[in-house]
Amino acid sequence: MSEFLNGLAAELDAIRAASLWKTEREIISPQSAHVALTTRPDVLNFCANNYLGLANHPALIAAARKALDSHGLGMASVRFICGTTDLHRALEQRIARYVAMDDALLFAACFDANGALFEPLFGEQDAIISDALNHASIIDGIRLSKAKRFRYANGDMAALEDTLKEARAGGARRIIIATDGVFSMDGYFAKLADIRALADRHDALIMVDDCHATGFIGPQGRGTPARAGVTVDILTGTFGKALSGSAGGYIAAAQPVIDLLRQRGRPYLFSNALPPAIVAAARAAIDLAEQGDDLRERLFANAARFRTGMVKAGFTLLPGEHPIIPVMLGEARLAQAMAAKLNELGVFVSGFFYPVVPQGQARIRTQMSAAHSAADIDTAIAAFTEAGRCHGVI
Ligand SMILES: *Cc1c(COP(=O)(O)O)cnc(C)c1O
Repeated sequence: MSEFLNGLAAELDAIRAASLWKTEREIISPQSAHVALTTRPDVLNFCANNYLGLANHPALIAAARKALDSHGLGMASVRFICGTTDLHRALEQRIARYVAMDDALLFAACFDANGALFEPLFGEQDAIISDALNHASIIDGIRLSKAKRFRYANGDMAALEDTLKEARAGGARRIIIATDGVFSMDGYFAKLADIRALADRHDALIMVDDCHATGFIGPQGRGTPARAGVTVDILTGTFGKALSGSAGGYIAAAQPVIDLLRQRGRPYLFSNALPPAIVAAARAAIDLAEQGDDLRERLFANAARFRTGMVKAGFTLLPGEHPIIPVMLGEARLAQAMAAKLNELGVFVSGFFYPVVPQGQARIRTQMSAAHSAADIDTAIAAFTEAGRCHGVI
């Protein structure tokens, strides 16, 4: 035992020594543009996935309260034994309609949705082709399948076509291309129109994880396929980001896909049903998102304002239009020092560094929200400017 614990202590020391240690600050208010921390009553929050500002929306809280009263706290069961309520089915049908699929299946988290997806649908005779920057849950989900695995460099369509040819030449029965709709460390979009064309040419399926898109990207916030004007075969997403910020994930697809996953998806079969209050709030969130052109307008106006101001101040940003806006800093130590300074100035941001992003590409990933005011954006730019001068970044 002590040898085991001493081994862990050495590993922990190495993480600290490499400046890769992550700490958690405790929030004592609802999640919003401004939050209260145990250490400070009001900080401006630029690191939540609260894109539409719904995490503390009165309509969602009211929907959750109503479901608490009508359906109680929790189901104490997996879905197929006695954990399915009318609310669960209503949400599955609602999300499917929103993203234009036949049906959908709920999970405790999108991490579980991606973990459930591949193993029942793709076996030894099949091939899964994955973008190198896909989310950890897609990588893990693919690992659980016996299919042959291929990987292509992020967004490299020539490399994707090479792997498609290789998989076809290898005699694969089914081939699926798996990609994030938006790559969360960079805010870059998957090239779905190109991927669709390649999939058609080589008779492959497409799976898109739209966690950083559904609710605010594309017409009515229907996600990256709608933005690109293409259809995909399987879509996964979360209720932990724009669509309420609470919890839960889903797979949306054609009926036979959903039916089979309902029978065979292990994280679905062997895990408790989502609490009814969360389910009801998620459905209210889809209603608001679908009608939410005003929220999206504010979100993208905030993103444009922040980008313009930061570039003018001399910072290096990754280009794009997504409300994920990475401020590039290089070394982990600098990203951490900048984040600490910004926190001191009352702006809550987080440094991202290896292994989450490649060595030497440490950054502060800022995320805009419809809940931010223009004044909030300007306050953040001013704080970045002060911190950047303090640390010789600008
Ligand atoms: C956040 C995220 C997930 C995980 O979603 P949860 O519902 O929080 O488990 C999966 N995939 C991508 C691309 C994500 O950004």
